[in-house]
Amino acid sequence: MNGKTVMACIEAAHAALKEHTDEIAALDQQIGDGDHIFNLLRGADALHAMRAEIEAEAFAPALDLAASKLLSTVGGSSGPLFFSLLHGMAKASDDVGPANVEAAARMFAAGVDAVTQRGKAGIGSKTMMDVLIPVASRFAELADEDAAPETVLDALPQVAETGMLATRDMLATKGRASFLGERSRGHIDPGARSSQLMIGAVCARLAQDRE
Ligand code: ADP
Ligand code: MG
Repeated sequence: MNGKTVMACIEAAHAALKEHTDEIAALDQQIGDGDHIFNLLRGADALHAMRAEIEAEAFAPALDLAASKLLSTVGGSSGPLFFSLLHGMAKASDDVGPANVEAAARMFAAGVDAVTQRGKAGIGSKTMMDVLIPVASRFAELADEDAAPETVLDALPQVAETGMLATRDMLATKGRASFLGERSRGHIDPGARSSQLMIGAVCARLAQDRE
């Protein structure tokens, strides 16, 4: 794995976000201020523009470069949170990237821990954490079970989808949606939806590379 792998994953995530722009904008109009997808697309466009630079790096520095760019371009609550995810993953990774499922699970868990430390939200607050935390947990379980990479890449998008759907009936207790109180129920959290889409796209891209 190297900067090219990182960039391929970013491009896959970017394509999935673009495809669902209107849907995510509508979700954030319902329980937020409507900017979430546009914040993310601004970041993804900035990463696309520095494609050659990211691709030239080794795995961990490429992740870190992307993380810093997201911090300076995305804004909102989610910019610093996605920075923490990628920066936390980079810190927990070797320059050559994770060597196996166990190392990949550890790297992802470190990224999710960094997001938790920054955002102070756990499961059940109706945020992206309702996707990220269950995915990190299942990833660790699969690593313990010595699961094959293909199994992991197939399983994690399903966990992400379940987590995303679960936010619909939750009461938001973190972020802007929490200002709505009970009125936040009945809507999927936009950050959970964007995170789930990105996880699905990245897993599909990595699975395709293994074929
Ligand atoms: P803002 O709410 O500042 O406009 P964005 O629109 O970029 O920020 O992102 C909103 C998303 O950020 C929410 O849908 C939610 O998933 C996520 N979010 C908000 N606060 C937190 C938090 N403390 N921890 C984790 N995720 C959060
Ligand atoms: Mg917003």
